Amino acid sequence: MNSPDVCATTVALNDDESSRLAQVPDGAHELTDTLQCELQAGHPGSHMALGQAGLEVAWWLRWSTTERALITVDDETGYCEATGRPVDSDPSDHDDWLCQLPAEHFGAHSWQMSAVGRVPSEANQQKLIDMAYELMERRR
Ligand SMILES: [Zn+2]
Ligand SMILES: [Zn+2]
Repeated sequence: MNSPDVCATTVALNDDESSRLAQVPDGAHELTDTLQCELQAGHPGSHMALGQAGLEVAWWLRWSTTERALITVDDETGYCEATGRPVDSDPSDHDDWLCQLPAEHFGAHSWQMSAVGRVPSEANQQKLIDMAYELMERRR
């Protein structure tokens, strides 16, 4: 089974957008100059790409030829809560993935498509390392 393709149209952030994303507290990802649309290829309407994820709110850039806006996605506006597993995922890993695209998005869920590569921010990398150590400690 092939995974549906992700749209992957890219957009360069302008200075204003970059500085707003840089101010998101506890950002989970390393900021980049270019974002990549995360909806399924062939989607209607605007492109959507996650700019930065904070603790309680995620900032998405929504853009098309006629609009461009940084929007927030949080518990109130809603994430897509569909869970499932990528077709090519490690069979020994049984955890379901949470879609986390903005609610009511078009097309395939994020875990059905090939992942958009993201680098965790330094603070988040430390958090992941701490969590891994904690798990190891608990298993002793
Ligand atoms: Zn797109
Ligand atoms: Zn979804």
